[in-house]
Amino acid sequence: MESYICQSCGLPFSRKMRGTNKDLSRNSDYCSTCFQDGKFTDHHLTIQDMEKKLLDMARHHDGLTIEEAQQTIKMLPDLKRWKMTHIL
Ligand SMILES: [Zn+2]
Repeated sequence: MESYICQSCGLPFSRKMRGTNKDLSRNSDYCSTCFQDGKFTDHHLTIQDMEKKLLDMARHHDGLTIEEAQQTIKMLPDLKRWKMTHIL
């Protein structure tokens, strides 16, 4: 199965779950939870919010463990969405 790593939330997603661009083509950088119709579903989200979101998901056993959440959090600053804000 083809899988991608979302450049926003850091979670793996399948081909079917790719985000959509404005022209409705598929975006392989972001999952459909983070990116739809050419923009982020929550564009006010900061990297800290994303960390909280991942930990919340783990706490509610929503697809990942606490260890997985912590590992994902560690790689957030290297993802396309956060790279710029991290440098500033
Ligand atoms: Zn995502």
